[in-house]
Amino acid sequence: MMLLFALLFSAVESVEKERLLDVKPENYDLTFMPNFENFTFFGSEEISVKIVKPTKFIEINCKEIVIHNALFHQSSDEYLANVSYDKERETATLEFENAVSSFGVLKLNFTGFLNDEFRGFSRIFFDDIQRYGAVTHFEPEWARKAFPCFDDPSLKATFQISVIVPQEMTALSNMPIASSEPYNENTTLKKVSFEITPPMSTYLAALAIGYYDYVERMHGEKPIRIYTFVGKAKQVEFAADVALRAIQYFEQLLDISYTLPKLDFVTIHNFTIGGMENWGLITILADAIIFEKNETSFKNIRRSVDIVAHEIAHQWTGNLVTMSLWSQIWLNEGFTSFLSSKCVFSLFPQWKKVDTTFNDVLAVGFDADGLESSHPIVFEMKSKSNLSSYFDAITYKKGESIIRMMSKIIGEKTFFKGLRLYLKRHQFGNAEVNDLWIALEQVSKKPIGEIMNSWVHQKNYPLVEVTKSQSQFCLKISQKAFVINGQLSEKNKKLKWHIPIVYKTASDNQMKWMLLSNMFGYICERDEIILNYGAFGFYRTKYTLKMYKKTLYELVKQKQLSRENRFIIQNDLFAVTKAGDISTDDYLKFLTAYRAENDAVVVQSIDNSLSEIDLILSNTELENGFHNFTIQLLKPTLNSIGLTPNDGDDLNTLLLRAIIFKRLGLFHESSVVKEAKREFEEYLSGNKKIENNLRQAVFCTIASNSNDEEFDALFELFKNISYKRFEVRNDLTQCIGYTQKEIQINKVLQLCLTDQVNTKEAMAIIQAIASSSKGRQLAYNLLVKDEKVKEKLQKSKKFISFIPALYKQFSSVEKAIEFEEGFKEIIASSKASNLETMRTRAALLLHSESDLSGYLRKFQ
Ligand SMILES: [Zn+2]
Repeated sequence: MMLLFALLFSAVESVEKERLLDVKPENYDLTFMPNFENFTFFGSEEISVKIVKPTKFIEINCKEIVIHNALFHQSSDEYLANVSYDKERETATLEFENAVSSFGVLKLNFTGFLNDEFRGFSRIFFDDIQRYGAVTHFEPEWARKAFPCFDDPSLKATFQISVIVPQEMTALSNMPIASSEPYNENTTLKKVSFEITPPMSTYLAALAIGYYDYVERMHGEKPIRIYTFVGKAKQVEFAADVALRAIQYFEQLLDISYTLPKLDFVTIHNFTIGGMENWGLITILADAIIFEKNETSFKNIRRSVDIVAHEIAHQWTGNLVTMSLWSQIWLNEGFTSFLSSKCVFSLFPQWKKVDTTFNDVLAVGFDADGLESSHPIVFEMKSKSNLSSYFDAITYKKGESIIRMMSKIIGEKTFFKGLRLYLKRHQFGNAEVNDLWIALEQVSKKPIGEIMNSWVHQKNYPLVEVTKSQSQFCLKISQKAFVINGQLSEKNKKLKWHIPIVYKTASDNQMKWMLLSNMFGYICERDEIILNYGAFGFYRTKYTLKMYKKTLYELVKQKQLSRENRFIIQNDLFAVTKAGDISTDDYLKFLTAYRAENDAVVVQSIDNSLSEIDLILSNTELENGFHNFTIQLLKPTLNSIGLTPNDGDDLNTLLLRAIIFKRLGLFHESSVVKEAKREFEEYLSGNKKIENNLRQAVFCTIASNSNDEEFDALFELFKNISYKRFEVRNDLTQCIGYTQKEIQINKVLQLCLTDQVNTKEAMAIIQAIASSSKGRQLAYNLLVKDEKVKEKLQKSKKFISFIPALYKQFSSVEKAIEFEEGFKEIIASSKASNLETMRTRAALLLHSESDLSGYLRKFQ
């Protein structure tokens, strides 16, 4: 099975690679000269190549680049080439009169454009000095937009990069500067040349040119620098400390020193991703590491540390050892995510108390992989053009989760021993999934490959069902694939996993484990059992209704289960409720066991479920009853910690208050609304700031309960806030759409059509607007039915972002059909998942309306 998978997947890519592999690059000598007047660049390169078999044709990757001349240099001879392009394959073919062979140097001159997409070579704007610079971003396959190259991760080569830029600019690349001297007679330009890199993949080459200040830490002899905008150095001090500590952490954990002589981070405004791990020159979203110290919430500090640790971890997993095939990108990303989580908790052990991994990794992985439209971790690439869509929750979140599971199977100590072996064995080279299994099997003496292949080569995950067996002391546990719509295809019915099951009996504290490799098995204990103890497994558990109602209810209520188990039991139960296996009233009744829950991780997971139920019930007669049910569920906890922050509040309390305050505020609970209005008034008068973690809850409560005057104040605040106050701006963005009056909703919608908010912000706003039935209809009338607006949106490309953001808030089969048929231009992968979500919600609404009508009447 394992071998078959391996063959299958390499076969798909080998077709693409075939011709490229005839030529092996050994060194790229590259010179770039950007022009900041007309936003083009000139480049020249000399690629030292080994020609595997003599050929008249050399095919090289090349996109949106014009090659002016190309020749092959060998000994003292030069052979000119004719150049032709294949747009679809993103290549240029160099045709020689006679076959070329052996070793030689390809010499090319070319020009290209500095684009605005962060794909290839892009221009960047420094707004404080009103000048342009440029930066590269090549992953996955955009190096070919900056220079003709053999653009495949397995074709590693060394790089000697030079750049010709104005004297006053800072130029950075993967390696330190080897020389910097005036360019020709022209004294306003300089030529900066960088040292040669170790062998690396094309997607990791990097350049950044701009106007920067920096802060520095020394790691032994190696400088670690954060380059930031002029005047912002103080605000990246924290990130610099984290970067240094993270490098030290990974060196020790992985037992391999950081390879390059320096590591720089360079900040970018409006970067479309969080960060990119280019070897020695990490590019990072400015908002992620520049802190306005007194406005930063825990969530953002955590995110910042995560990104810094993630990109640094990549210097080993990804840069030093690189996956051979893009279809195994998980080897880069899943591992790196796992390592960065470990690093974060090692650097900030106090954050373990509010471990966001459960909600932000495990639950997100479950949701993404519970869809029929999901894909295996090691995927089959259908076409090269959608490669970047695989940098998704399956690759990162499920990827991280199954590595965590694997590390628990063999024990962390053994796991890291295996990982170190794998990294050392493949350093400066490439690896495949099987290489990892081999290393882990070697150290653990366990059949890791056999177990893990069922997790990486199959999409979806198992639901483990616990039922009574005929024997008095045994429980039957069985597995089947889980999909959130509850409908298994014939193919899905046959799927089977090797499931490492960790369990504990209800009365005993000792953890036990078994491997469930068949469709069912038995656990024989004298007591009832809790499965997936510690929530390490990437599978869902379903117990009998009787067990939910009695044993589990009491264990949760009495807090006799750890936080991880209180979390996973609720998360699993809501998933099986959505799949139609449990009625919605049984689910809500079970939630009452959490009435005094005071762990922010558990409450966050409950809140996520409640928010989804609220969405489907909006516009039904049950809405009010549901709001009251929620208030009764969550209010006791809020009462116990108080509405107003205290100096002595720990992190858990601060986060707990923020979650419940926001939910109850959105549900119009009077004491919360009153407190929010008081906080907001003081904030506006400038007398007092709102506690950073609570700010969003206060803004959302105001938006959802405002009088005209308060709405106007909130709206003005939003319209006038600069992007530089990223955190406050983001809190306003997340909330302004919760406004309730028609005239106000229209005002906010109109703002989304202007350039005063960017596309990402507008999507968040539209999503909030469309969470209420009134807002949904108004947004629909404007964005879908108004032909003029539609036409304008289509021109600005905002259309493909706005339409799914709106449609996915509908819990309606009719709207799903309308979306599917009416919007063919929306990207296929995101459309499929949105459609499934809409259909699943429609089914949930259908059974919930009858399930809940009796139960929620009590709460009207
Ligand atoms: Zn990454």
